[in-house]
Amino acid sequence: MLIVDAHEDIAMNVLHGGRDIRQSVAKIRRREDEIAAARGCALIDSPDLAMVALPEHRLGGVGLVFATLFTMPAALDTMTANAQEQLRYYHDLAAQDIGVRLITNQQELQQLTVDWSAARTPDDRPVGMVILMEGADALREPSDLPAWYAQGLRIVGPAWRGTRYAGGTGAPGPLTDLGRALLVEMERLGVTLDMSHMAEESFWQAIEQFHGTIIASHSNCRALVPTDRQLSDEMIRAIAERDGVIGTVMANSFLVAGWGKEDKDGNVNNSPVTLADVIRHIDHICQLTGSARHCAIGSDFDGGFGVESTPEAFDSVADLEKLASALAQAGYSEDDVTGIMGGNWLRLLARALPVA
Ligand SMILES: [Zn+2]
Repeated sequence: MLIVDAHEDIAMNVLHGGRDIRQSVAKIRRREDEIAAARGCALIDSPDLAMVALPEHRLGGVGLVFATLFTMPAALDTMTANAQEQLRYYHDLAAQDIGVRLITNQQELQQLTVDWSAARTPDDRPVGMVILMEGADALREPSDLPAWYAQGLRIVGPAWRGTRYAGGTGAPGPLTDLGRALLVEMERLGVTLDMSHMAEESFWQAIEQFHGTIIASHSNCRALVPTDRQLSDEMIRAIAERDGVIGTVMANSFLVAGWGKEDKDGNVNNSPVTLADVIRHIDHICQLTGSARHCAIGSDFDGGFGVESTPEAFDSVADLEKLASALAQAGYSEDDVTGIMGGNWLRLLARALPVA
């Protein structure tokens, strides 16, 4: 079963975090331990223990990831340069003889699934990457989008926090004129719209204006974790009505309300989070939409948090497969499990990606 993870900030962690994802997770951690030791501190006490690396993708059957272009808010020139460097990095990675492929059209997607299934050992499995821009601020203006598209960009999330394009997480607000123009350009080119991080107002404006493919690459249910970062029931229904797909984020604070926060006595809630907590979000989407075809994975592993902030079943991205047996045990049919683990993303991409 080919697993799809719809949100990994790979280039950011490589270029700005010094993590070489061609190495195993164990090696990345060892290197960071050594750096921390040289500085006289134990890394184990600090957050962000790495989970994502190519050997673990192969081992755990993660055959396709949505790999992000993500830069923290900065001067426009800096953000553009960072995102371009990240895009170049993905091309460089795909040019090496290590089985990484950029997936930009239906033929490449089809070939990936064929070759992945034909691999005789996990080491032989290809890893596909679909390029996703998280927060559109790196785009100087919407008219730059064709050049990025030509370089393989296929999914854009206009917001992160608030951007020049849209209100976002913790920054309520509408689409700006620039945001509206961006959606026109995305629809014209056939770029998928990622609604994750979009503020309430901009979300509903985008739903109304944009007629292309929509997703939420990494968002959970607001009914269970009531923050503006998660999707309301109405948003979930709206995405499902457009046959969109929602990736479940594997961050404890996005899975369990109040996780990582202090209670009134000053005790931090850091009780273990389980796969049952993950399935609660998936169940909620299934109940709202009447099927499992809109649920999927968008782990966000290494997206500003590490293993200590993820469910206890996960030590690395290789452990995503444990969710499959947990879903089966919870009563999900084989078809539904396959869909949630990757099939729903593959179906959506087969529709959203262009013909070569
Ligand atoms: Zn994010």
